[in-house]
Order: sequence, then structure tokens, then C-alpha cells
Amino acid sequence: MMKRMALASLLSAGVASLIPVSAMAHEGDVSERLAQIASLFDARSIVAGPEVVDCTLSGGTETQCFSITLKNSLESSEMGPWCPGKLSDGADEGGIWVRDGKQYDVDGAFIENLATFYDDPEWQLFDEATGKVHVTDTRTACDQAARPDVAEAYHNYCVECRTEYMDEVVETTYVLPLVPVARQEAASGRTPPIPRGIAFNGVRFDAAAPQDAILAAHTLAPFDDCGGHVNLHVGYHYHGANGCSPAKENVAADAPMIGFAMDGYPILARLTGDEAEKAELDACSGHVGAGIGYHYHGNSAEKNEILGCFHGEIGCALDSPDAVCTADDMGHRGPPPGEEDRPPSGKE
Ligand SMILES: [Zn+2]
Ligand SMILES: [Zn+2]
Repeated sequence: MMKRMALASLLSAGVASLIPVSAMAHEGDVSERLAQIASLFDARSIVAGPEVVDCTLSGGTETQCFSITLKNSLESSEMGPWCPGKLSDGADEGGIWVRDGKQYDVDGAFIENLATFYDDPEWQLFDEATGKVHVTDTRTACDQAARPDVAEAYHNYCVECRTEYMDEVVETTYVLPLVPVARQEAASGRTPPIPRGIAFNGVRFDAAAPQDAILAAHTLAPFDDCGGHVNLHVGYHYHGANGCSPAKENVAADAPMIGFAMDGYPILARLTGDEAEKAELDACSGHVGAGIGYHYHGNSAEKNEILGCFHGEIGCALDSPDAVCTADDMGHRGPPPGEEDRPPSGKE
């Protein structure tokens, strides 16, 4: 009961703190936890839920999950820019690109220098005569270029899509364990190309962008400074946590909380410098902390994805709030390589 009392005092102090999972034995705890989960999210991003549902996690564990249906709550002015329009444009007119764990500003000079940067004379993303950058500035262009098999006509383009091109706002139902379940076996091979987690503004943290396919067509698909960009399948999504999405202070933890991973463990803000060294994060960018248990510290976009693997059994990202999460038969039929930026096959 100590933990519950501590929790009550935290809540009465108005601090959103994660309920320690070990304290969640009672019905009352579940409803408290649902209320708390709801309070973490920007209210504009919640379409439905959270509610408790039965679920089967990726490792076969049958348990209870919370189901929450989310949409991106950002205004279009809060996303982008991605591609600079001309070679004279500065960093304010473009987003970022990442290579080998380093982040670069995509300004005009970066575009001009690509042939040198990649040591490949085929790069030519701009018009020599006018200095205009080739940017996919229509829905069709974005559709043809933002795919693993980039249409020939859009080779050597800076690729950007806009949420205005989408027919409808994407709503995704996330079904995540109320009490995370650690995986039985260590992560092996590739983590399935499903979202890595959700931010509190309803934006998904997605799996790594398929850089090889993007670069093979001599295209860039820059992230904005927040680590996000748009594709027509899922809308705006992050490939890392660059400190833009809402963060909730958590007195029990070593950093503010910024979201949930698909296995239900909290994602906390990135640690830097000495703190990062001392934290001794595992391969999944996580560790155990007193009072909060296992949690991740999300990578920034320079790593291309917020976490490299899952510590726990994952739940589901579903197209419909009525769909049932049976994640145990998902990983076996992932999409072919190079399809990482597309929706999970488990929801087709
Ligand atoms: Zn992407
Ligand atoms: Zn930590």
C-alpha cells in the first residue's frame, strides 16, 4: 500500500507520474491508470478511449491492454519545413537529413554538395541554370516519390509530402499492455516494421525510414527539425524524438515522459552527456530505474528511429477501434524489405 499512498500524494500534487506496475493489482488501480493515461495525451489527439480490452501480445501472452485511438493533433504550421526551394535557402527553409548517426541541416548548400557528400556524381537535386531545387510539390509527385520503388521521373528529387494531400486524417488504434511483459528471449534479428510507439500529441514514432531505397533513387526525404515527415499511408510521423512533442514531468524518473512504446513501457526524453553515459542504456535504449521500472530514453532523429528494439512483448497498431489485437501472428508476415515506411501488414 505504500506505493499507492505515494501515488495518491503525487496525483493530488497535480504531477502526472507513472503508476508503478507492481502496484496495479486492483480494479481501482486500472481505472486510475486509464484516467492517468488519458491525461498524458493532448486531448485533441484522442479520438476514442482509453479503455481496457483483452489482447494477445507478440510473445503469445494473453492479457489486458489499453486501447486508445489517436490522430495527429498538430496544425500544419507546426510541421516542416522539409525541402529548401532554392540553393540560396538557409537552414530555416529546410529540415534535416541523417547519415551514420549524424544529423545535417538540409539547406541549399547541403543540396548543392550532395554529389560530394555521397561521393556519387549522379546526385543532381537542382536546376543548374536557376538554382531551383527539385521538390515534389504535388500530391501525385509525393505519391510517386515517397515509396520504396521511386518512380523514374522522380529520381533526383527532394521528397516531401504534406498532410493537405491526404484524403482523410489517419486515426490509429493502439492496443498496448496495461502491464508490460518482458520478452522471454532477447531481441533477435530485425524488429518488425511496425510503429515503435506514440507521442502525446498523437503522432506515431515510426520504424526507421528506408534510407537505402531512398538514396538508391538519389532522393532525400528530409525530416523536419522535429524528426518528422509525412507519407500518404500514415500521415505525419517521427523517426526520433528531437524534443518537440509534449513532455510530462515525472518526479519518479530521470527524465520527462514523452510517450509509450508499443510494448507499453514508457519512453522518456533523451539523456545527454554524463547522464547518458551513466545510464548504461541497453541495445533497445532502455534501462531500469527506481520507482518507474524499465523504460526507454528515446533516440533523436539522427539514429533514424526512436528505439532499436523492444524489451517487452508488443501490442498492436490497428486501423479500427473494433479490431482485436492478436500480435502473436503479426511478426511472421512483415512486408518485404524497403517497406518500413508503410503501414504494418498486420492491419490489412
Ligand atoms: Zn518516414
Ligand atoms: Zn532512465
